[in-house]
Amino acid sequence: MKAEALVEIPKCPHAKPRLSPDDFGDQLFLVVVGKGDNERRFTVFRNLLTYHSSYFRAALGGDWKESTQKTVNLPDDDPDVFRAFHHWLYYGTLYSQLTPEGKVPLSAYLIAKVYVFGDARGIPHLCNASVDLLVQKSLSEWVFCHGVLNYVYDNTPENCGLRRLLVKFGAETYRWTRNVRNAEQNFPRMFLMDVMIMNYEDGTYALGKCLSKVGRAKYLETIAKEACEYHDHGQAAADTSATKN
Ligand SMILES: [Zn+2]
Repeated sequence: MKAEALVEIPKCPHAKPRLSPDDFGDQLFLVVVGKGDNERRFTVFRNLLTYHSSYFRAALGGDWKESTQKTVNLPDDDPDVFRAFHHWLYYGTLYSQLTPEGKVPLSAYLIAKVYVFGDARGIPHLCNASVDLLVQKSLSEWVFCHGVLNYVYDNTPENCGLRRLLVKFGAETYRWTRNVRNAEQNFPRMFLMDVMIMNYEDGTYALGKCLSKVGRAKYLETIAKEACEYHDHGQAAADTSATKN
């Protein structure tokens, strides 16, 4: 089935300027990701890694002599996650093209893993890009990706952008009537708590909001504009200023 065209996400006012190829420098690193049969190798300019990631700034800072072996090993990371990050470093997007059905080629789970990687490696702008892509994917396929909830609640900090986005989608776009009695078995408890709190604070009874009150078309229009609310601008701003000369 064809997916609907991706909604456009307005440019985040806190977006970090892309690094110009003129500033890539000449130091290439080999990044070995995963292990065994699942190992993949990527070559990346050091300046790209250190510009975007506080983890790599700390790990690759200082002088690297010609003789030094320029290899970074990330055996516990997922090569598919690094592949998306690698693409984002060079092109500013997490993938090169949509599938023939017009769908985002990354699963919601992979997008969530990219977010967690960005959080762990100090790349707040990568987290924000993951949030934007999950907004686009969820709206174009019109599915609530509840399959990622356990992973997200096990691997992200409380109240982070990704959790808040999933709570919003869960509260406003999910048909709870079918599943509310089994909710405790199917969803993380903290998620249910977050949905309940949002439902209370929203004041307009958020559950199923877009299905009844606002309507889907209007919802699609408004939520894309709100993507910024699920970005972490504090960390993004700190990261931008940390790499200014
Ligand atoms: Zn933003």
